Amino acid sequence: MCHAFLTDARFYQFLFRIDQSIAEEVQAAGCRCGGVLHSACYPRKPRGFRSVLDKSYEYRLSFCCATEGCRRRTTPPSVRFLGRKVYLGVLVVLISALEGGVSPTRRRQLVDTLDVPAQTLWRWQQWWREVFAEGPWWRMERAQFIPPIAAKGLPGELLARLGGADLSERLVRLLGLIAPVTSTSRSSSLTVRTDPQNL
Ligand SMILES: [Zn+2]
Repeated sequence: MCHAFLTDARFYQFLFRIDQSIAEEVQAAGCRCGGVLHSACYPRKPRGFRSVLDKSYEYRLSFCCATEGCRRRTTPPSVRFLGRKVYLGVLVVLISALEGGVSPTRRRQLVDTLDVPAQTLWRWQQWWREVFAEGPWWRMERAQFIPPIAAKGLPGELLARLGGADLSERLVRLLGLIAPVTSTSRSSSLTVRTDPQNL
């Protein structure tokens, strides 16, 4: 495996700690009705390197308002789960980014190892180009990138523009950057910090 961090349990624990810190902030802010948020996680069965994922990957952090008559659901942004996709966000980003890249062999190895169906790969591509690129978040953020990033260059070109010591750091940055699109709650305006010293 070329990308060693993908099979390192510590990488996934680090992502979980980021999700936890986002969730703490969201919970502290409370429900928009003023109510207290109680934990109400969604069960998940993410596909990826299952053997290195601990129990924290069996659920997505989420909250429910404790106030009778409100009970509104608040799901914080996540760097682990990219919307309702069954594969872990980091894999959806990396495999999509490697498409058309300089090393097709690496991508093929990853796709084969994880047994990602061709139809799924095609759906991811459509998602980046149509759902993500046309969504309100990217339409607002894309102006920050000069020269502009074309929809067909997502997410590879975006990944290439982000700083970081290595690929794993750039992936974490990207996941943190786009995390607001993984939440439909008010908290989607939250800026996600992914620097280790902030956790
Ligand atoms: Zn409420």
